[in-house]
Amino acid sequence: MQAPPCPTPELLPLADLRGGARARDIALVATDVDGTLTRRGKLDPAVMAAIFALDEAGIRVIPVSGRPTGEVLGLCRYLPGVARGLAENGLLEVIPDRPPRWLGRPTDKARLRAVGAALNAEMEAGLRLTGDDFCRLGDVAYERDGREEGELLRLRAAAEAHGVHLVWSNVHVHLAEAIPDKGAALLQLVAELEIDPARVATIGDAPNDAGLFTRGRFGLTVGTADVRHQRAYFPALPEFVSAEAEGAGFVELATILLGR
Ligand SMILES: [Mg+2]
Repeated sequence: MQAPPCPTPELLPLADLRGGARARDIALVATDVDGTLTRRGKLDPAVMAAIFALDEAGIRVIPVSGRPTGEVLGLCRYLPGVARGLAENGLLEVIPDRPPRWLGRPTDKARLRAVGAALNAEMEAGLRLTGDDFCRLGDVAYERDGREEGELLRLRAAAEAHGVHLVWSNVHVHLAEAIPDKGAALLQLVAELEIDPARVATIGDAPNDAGLFTRGRFGLTVGTADVRHQRAYFPALPEFVSAEAEGAGFVELATILLGR
């Protein structure tokens, strides 16, 4: 839940990790996609090279996105070094050529859409269903359309009055029956893969990534520089923050993990 504001510890510079044992122990990087692997909405060549280099070094990369199952499938199929991903804020696991697997409880999309319609009718919310809705199995998302946090908080309160959770990324506004928690899904996945969560690094840029930052879950938690100006809206903050924004922040993390 995006409960503002929270008294927060200092966000440590990611550069503090350089050369240290904590960076050397990482076996898997779980990364948000939009605003974390992208730059101005597109995958950045430097990011793709960094993903490939991590894979070559034996460090797995798993995208953990709010994007639809169908869209994450494309990432997993075509990105070098990426074999599986988590979609729809952790509701589903995606592996090419296998049916998607529910990690969260299957949702009632019709009910969630009805709440979105009610917000539009009651408060002229102007929510526009995302164009990628046809690729979403459980999540209902609307275009963020540049909404500021004040408006998002107003919508969240209205959604909660309907018994529904609302969470946002840099691009979308999601309605959900349970609080979206990318981190809970990732914990389940790494347990199945028999990877110690202490050897997992997470990185994200927006409040829907907060579950990846919850203290005590993962070995390293990193926010891109974009986290700084939104920090009041994160229920859990990362321990470290990159100097650079968006995909350049991911490259910064990869460079440190690769000991370069
Ligand atoms: Mg993001």
